[in-house]
Amino acid sequence: VDRKKYAKDAESSYLRQEQESKRKLKKYKEMLCSRAALPIAGLKVDILQMLKENDVLVVCGETGSGKTTQVPQFILDDMIESGHGGNCNIICTQPRRIAAISVAERVADERCEPSPGAVGSLVGYQVRLDSARNEKTKLLFCTTGILLRKLAGDRSLSGITHVIVDEVHERSLLGDFLLIVLKNLIEKQSSQDTPKLKVILMSATVDSNLFSRYFGQCPVLTAQGRTHPVTNYFLEDIYEYINYNLASDAPAALRYETSAIDKSGPVDNHRGKKNLVLSAWGDDSQLSEDCINPHYISTSYQTYSEQTQKNLKRLNEEIIDYDLLEDLICYVDETCGEGAILIFLPGVSEIYMLLDRLVASYRFGGPSSDWVLPLHSSIASKDQKKVFLWPPDNIRKVIIATNIAETSLTIDDVVYVIDCGKHKENRYNPQKKLTSMVEDWISQANARQRRGRAGRVKPGICFCLYTRHRFEKLMRPYQVPEMLRMPLVELSLQIKLLSLGHIKPFLSKALEPPREEAMTSAISLLYEVGALEGDEQLTPLGHHLAKLPVDVLIGKMLLYGAIFGCLSPILSISAFLSYKSPFVYPKDEKQNVERAKLALLADKIDGSNDSNYNDRLSDHLLMMVAYKKWEKILSERGFKAAQQFCATYFLSSSVMHMIRDMRTQFGTLLADIGLISIPKSYQAGRMKKENLDSWLSEKSQPFNMYSHHSSLVKAILCAGLYPNVAATEHGITAATLNGLKQSSRPGKKGHPIWYDGRREVHIHPSSVNCNVKAFPHPFLVFLEKVETNKVFLRDTTIISPFSILLFGGAINIQHQTGLLTIDGWLKLTASAQYAVLFKELRSTLHALLKEL
Ligand code: ADP
Ligand code: MG
Repeated sequence: VDRKKYAKDAESSYLRQEQESKRKLKKYKEMLCSRAALPIAGLKVDILQMLKENDVLVVCGETGSGKTTQVPQFILDDMIESGHGGNCNIICTQPRRIAAISVAERVADERCEPSPGAVGSLVGYQVRLDSARNEKTKLLFCTTGILLRKLAGDRSLSGITHVIVDEVHERSLLGDFLLIVLKNLIEKQSSQDTPKLKVILMSATVDSNLFSRYFGQCPVLTAQGRTHPVTNYFLEDIYEYINYNLASDAPAALRYETSAIDKSGPVDNHRGKKNLVLSAWGDDSQLSEDCINPHYISTSYQTYSEQTQKNLKRLNEEIIDYDLLEDLICYVDETCGEGAILIFLPGVSEIYMLLDRLVASYRFGGPSSDWVLPLHSSIASKDQKKVFLWPPDNIRKVIIATNIAETSLTIDDVVYVIDCGKHKENRYNPQKKLTSMVEDWISQANARQRRGRAGRVKPGICFCLYTRHRFEKLMRPYQVPEMLRMPLVELSLQIKLLSLGHIKPFLSKALEPPREEAMTSAISLLYEVGALEGDEQLTPLGHHLAKLPVDVLIGKMLLYGAIFGCLSPILSISAFLSYKSPFVYPKDEKQNVERAKLALLADKIDGSNDSNYNDRLSDHLLMMVAYKKWEKILSERGFKAAQQFCATYFLSSSVMHMIRDMRTQFGTLLADIGLISIPKSYQAGRMKKENLDSWLSEKSQPFNMYSHHSSLVKAILCAGLYPNVAATEHGITAATLNGLKQSSRPGKKGHPIWYDGRREVHIHPSSVNCNVKAFPHPFLVFLEKVETNKVFLRDTTIISPFSILLFGGAINIQHQTGLLTIDGWLKLTASAQYAVLFKELRSTLHALLKEL
């Protein structure tokens, strides 16, 4: 013990000396100056004092006020300077990995950490699959998930002095979950006299009392922000300008007024009239004060011109108008003063869509194209840094971002924001029992946050590509916390993995506890898939699922796919299940799509005989085949050929690209828990995603040994989709958990019809199984039951009863002889010896999972 203490003391004094010598560096001094100018600097003394007196503290401040970069350093500096640096161990959690990395790099830079590897010593980061830290690290930025994983190893977080939870206002599922865990820890430690863990919550918006109340009225400190005014334009304002200036019959007074503010005169450019009109917004010299008079816009046009009203009617806010977007960006670039343009788009595909257009345009081609920068969560960290740099003179920095630039990252030189008003968020689909990313309108709080990004250095402008009506009347005031709208399945598994007790009592302690039904349905699903048994005990399967951050159904398929050596097909299928079918249905082309689908299935892929009749009875195998072919064409013949392939077979190219992304994501998740190993070069960032994807599909990989066995692939699909099973054979009705009973009469064309207790249920017309009369097997699995004008089963695959026996659960079958279990039914149908064999296999599988 003494030796340990001696080492710590030595480290403390070394750190103090090092800090003192740094103070003499010119760069360090400069950094100190700019750090001292941040609004949060004024709170330093208070924060440190409050932390001495309290276990928990809430720190609030506008984005950009310096919370993330400064507060951890206040604590670090204080500990080093008071000679306790050796004991210091600060963890700061971030909701997103890109933020954890970029903030760590920034802080290391501010502290003039010696390069190379400035980050990774005193200041480090750790995110999934990537970390830069060593035994000297005293301040670690990590994702919420990483901290939760640490908790699994050591529930009391011994050795950690401070946990800083950043962006608590986002109310993410894991964030709220972490708060319950920390609250429990704090309550426990108040009765012990071990060194105390200090918790700091940092939040951007105002409802800080909620957090304070939750932690026993802990103190709240608020930094006074310094932001400049931002002028806001809604879509109708934008259109109105265009209309009035184009229309020669606009009231003379208005035309006069317009030209009066148009000091720069008509601008002659490639876009002609439209830009000329937009230039009425003024020239760059007096942008926000004179030229753009918000009063002028909102009062003069209270009754909109006929043309605008027409436009507003025609206007489909649901669709991003890339023409308008491009015009707007070019306009700002041409006529407005210095400052970067920040554009918020919903997702990665939209970002590249716009980026391609801009780079091809005459304004942003050539050298300017280097400064049209995408910013989203899967961007390489070296490309990420560029968004913070200043462009050369006369070149405009244009950043096209997802909501990542909303709060986590602050780019100082942004003066113009263009907000499309949408983002993608995880949403639960109860029919699929899966969560997927869906696009939706942001809340008013998000919109304000985005607008605020324009006023960092001087007055700014925000262009909203949605109407004022949408903002005021249709957008929610705040986002609903994830815990109240998301399923609690994965979270419940975490509770079990961390041995935090029974699920319901634990979740009831949340900031805003979820509904009783939501908890009940999560728990019953966990029993259904076999993750829990007995009194909420985690099974071996449940244990592995808890470590995979995906939906449990998908997780189960992935695990089985890897164990049984048919990973590549399962990667594709699970990606399509979690995203969507790649097939598009142009108007009046339904029959052609059908034909294309059959052609895809009939075609042999690479000479191997992997297509037989049974395989054609599966929408899932069809998608898998489509991907396999697309990938092959893409890697051999390039982008154009792959696009041509998509056009021929009615596939969406962007869905395919998304699937490729998801495949590699799933692959790395499996590598993460040690089920497969992926090339080191990928983890080191030297291998491209697309190469990892090809690597994952190589036939020679041990995890792809049985990839060509389509029956096995279908059996594993059944593992994921069970209990979504329906019987297809006449005379048997499978009373599965979803309650589908076969109707006594077949459909007009001889195909099966079911009842779900209320209405008739049909196979969806888009399914390849829609018109099949006689199936080779008596069961099918389906992805979801959807209700439109009829009730449909979407995305179906005919499966053998053995699949259910091996990977599904219990199914009771109504037969002439009475109620049977599926093994009983197999005995009846002369497959008795197989039934025994498969039962044994199933118990072997369970034993195997235990061993893993
Ligand atoms: P908050 O967490 O309150 O939103 P931050 O600590 O993230 O604020 O940022 C404070 C300031 O630090 C920003 O306004 C910006 O000036 C500067 N900053 C942060 N990250 C970087 C970076 N990577 N590069 C350059 N400047 C940065
Ligand atoms: Mg921050």
